[in-house]
Amino acid sequence: LYVDHLLGPGQSVELTREQAHYLFGVMRLAVGGHVALFNGKDGEWLAKVAEAGKKGGKLTCQTQSKPLHMPPDLWFLFAPIKKTRTDFIVEKAAEMGAARIMPVQTQFTNSERIRQDRLQAHAVEAAEQCGGTFVPEVADLQRLDRVLDDWPETRQMMFCDEAEVGSALRLAAQEKGQPWAILIGPEGGFSDRERARLSGLPYAHVVSLGPRILRADTAAVAALTMWQQALGD
Ligand code: SAM
Repeated sequence: LYVDHLLGPGQSVELTREQAHYLFGVMRLAVGGHVALFNGKDGEWLAKVAEAGKKGGKLTCQTQSKPLHMPPDLWFLFAPIKKTRTDFIVEKAAEMGAARIMPVQTQFTNSERIRQDRLQAHAVEAAEQCGGTFVPEVADLQRLDRVLDDWPETRQMMFCDEAEVGSALRLAAQEKGQPWAILIGPEGGFSDRERARLSGLPYAHVVSLGPRILRADTAAVAALTMWQQALGD
């Protein structure tokens, strides 16, 4: 269970109404029962239920069951699409170990707004479900141009474009362990102006995900898998 709380030996953790409902109503835990907690910073801790109520409860941390495991330094940039498909992309990026998830507005992006809090909650759920100890931060929507203006030059970028033929595997020749990013476009793809800008950037490596045009959510999973294969650890 993810808690926004310090974790350590003997630390007591107050539960919110939703957390109490989940642990005592859904999972049927009672006083004396055990639950694994993480907060994205202190690893995973085994905690004992000290108080259980309908509206709240209290847990006491006992021992650390897992140290904090940081994912590789990978940013995942994507243009948000329809709500449920955007949720899917954030969930999969979190499961597959992106360290930071960045929704970007491109020329052909239809969404003007995102619900950052909702997407962050999806990232938390994804981390909970895969037993992770780290939760990627979901950034607010930013314009792609602005993100590129401020880009840290040492961070390499796997720029996924269906108009290209470059294979991700050739990127394996690049030094592993460098900070990387993946960029996936919107339903309408990138504009000519964006392609021209991106292909002129020294850190952007254009990559094909195969001969067919994939849906943006499929492309996200394919790109994360290819990156893992070529450059992940
Ligand atoms: N119209 C479809 C949809 O509704 O999702 C297809 C969208 S495709 C243009 C969206 C993005 O996925 C592209 O901008 C690109 O980043 C990535 N993509 C899709 N197929 C790809 C391929 N074969 N190679 C590289 N990138 C691809």
